[in-house]
Amino acid sequence: MAIAQQILFIITLAVAGYFIRKRIVRIRKNIELGKKETVTGPSNERWQNVLLVAFGQRKMFKRFIPAFFHFLIYAGFLIINLEVLEFVIDGIAGTHRIFAPYLGGFYNVLMNVFEFLAVAVLLACIVFLVRRNILKVARFQSAEMTKWPRMDANLILTIEIVLMLAILTMNATDQILQVRDSHYHPTGVLFFSNLLTSTLQHLSTSTLVFIERFCWWFHIVGIFAFTLYVTYSKHLHIFMAFVNTYYAKLQPKGHINNMPIVTREVKTMLGLPADPAPANAEPGRFGAKDINDLSRANLMAAYACTECGRCTSECPANLTGKKLSPRKIMMDVRDRMEDVGNSLEAGGPGLNDGKFLLGDYISKEEINACTSCNACVEACPVLINPLEIILELRRYQAMEESSSPQQWNSMFQNIETSFAPWKFPASDRFNWAKTNS
Ligand code: SF4
Ligand code: SF4
Repeated sequence: MAIAQQILFIITLAVAGYFIRKRIVRIRKNIELGKKETVTGPSNERWQNVLLVAFGQRKMFKRFIPAFFHFLIYAGFLIINLEVLEFVIDGIAGTHRIFAPYLGGFYNVLMNVFEFLAVAVLLACIVFLVRRNILKVARFQSAEMTKWPRMDANLILTIEIVLMLAILTMNATDQILQVRDSHYHPTGVLFFSNLLTSTLQHLSTSTLVFIERFCWWFHIVGIFAFTLYVTYSKHLHIFMAFVNTYYAKLQPKGHINNMPIVTREVKTMLGLPADPAPANAEPGRFGAKDINDLSRANLMAAYACTECGRCTSECPANLTGKKLSPRKIMMDVRDRMEDVGNSLEAGGPGLNDGKFLLGDYISKEEINACTSCNACVEACPVLINPLEIILELRRYQAMEESSSPQQWNSMFQNIETSFAPWKFPASDRFNWAKTNS
């Protein structure tokens, strides 16, 4: 590889590294806008979740067909990217297929596996494009799937197809050049790209060299651009799903976080022993009005959301025509984080921009439609819990604003005075159990 190409590659790598790092730092800062939370529960259970749910894709397989094609893309992404290592070393060192002489026959096996996966990824992407755009699968057509989320998904699928075609074309030209020029190290027959060689054989050596180099550069620059783009896209789940499954709550799904201050009050009211309040404890805000009231785990989960809509397609509120969509809740949290982060980066007011997650992004109508059934939590393939965020927003509405619907306020009042949702005197509560002896 000419020295000029080496220099150009190192500059490209440095520029890509700079922008990707900058974006990672921004995402970390956005997540740090949330409240710190102590991670509880055994770490071996957390690692089990990472292995089974993120690596193993266990929850995806509840819907076999999309899971199968998604698995092909996922496996392709993980394994084909090993080849990127060779691209990077070749780019820096000015070599060509640096691993080929060292790995011998195994290099041929490896390249054939990569090509098989490249074709599998290509087919899976076409299937997904057809499902989204021609079959119009219902969960990709909901109201929150506006122009950008739809374009984001289509763009990534198209980029992947083009990148896979570049690899196959590069390998095809390389195989022809191996016969014509000793500079090209023999790879053995690469099954899928070999099928393309007959259509390229008639081209001159210089044209083939140009195509091979063009595909090489196109693929590696495409990978860098793809990695940067992913940080702005729902496809960030490729990385964040692993982190999210580690930090996902280990408690049973119905578990609702108690507020220690309220627990203490209730216990005192009922004459039960209560933990003493910590000295100088600030009561803080009840529930969440904005992202800084949510936990960092909640915020991180928004970056792990794949926008697959499995949660919304199982949500009884959504299915009965209510405005609530748990997927939109996660998308709104991410949008709010991004808006605040961008504002801070530009020297703006950040969280003090006069907007709030509750009200400006998520409406009360949405959160009040939730039945707390946990169907969304059960459905999520990456262990996201949209209900936890909804409950925090409702807590704020009920406890800080006292602006819950009137019927709810009556129920709260009855629970407080009669220990039941109905307005019976507390002394009558166990009448039903009395026998007529
Ligand atoms: S918990 Fe709420 S948001 Fe989740 S599925 Fe049930 S009703 Fe929908
Ligand atoms: S919260 Fe989970 S189920 Fe819902 S869209 Fe995001 S990844 Fe899919």
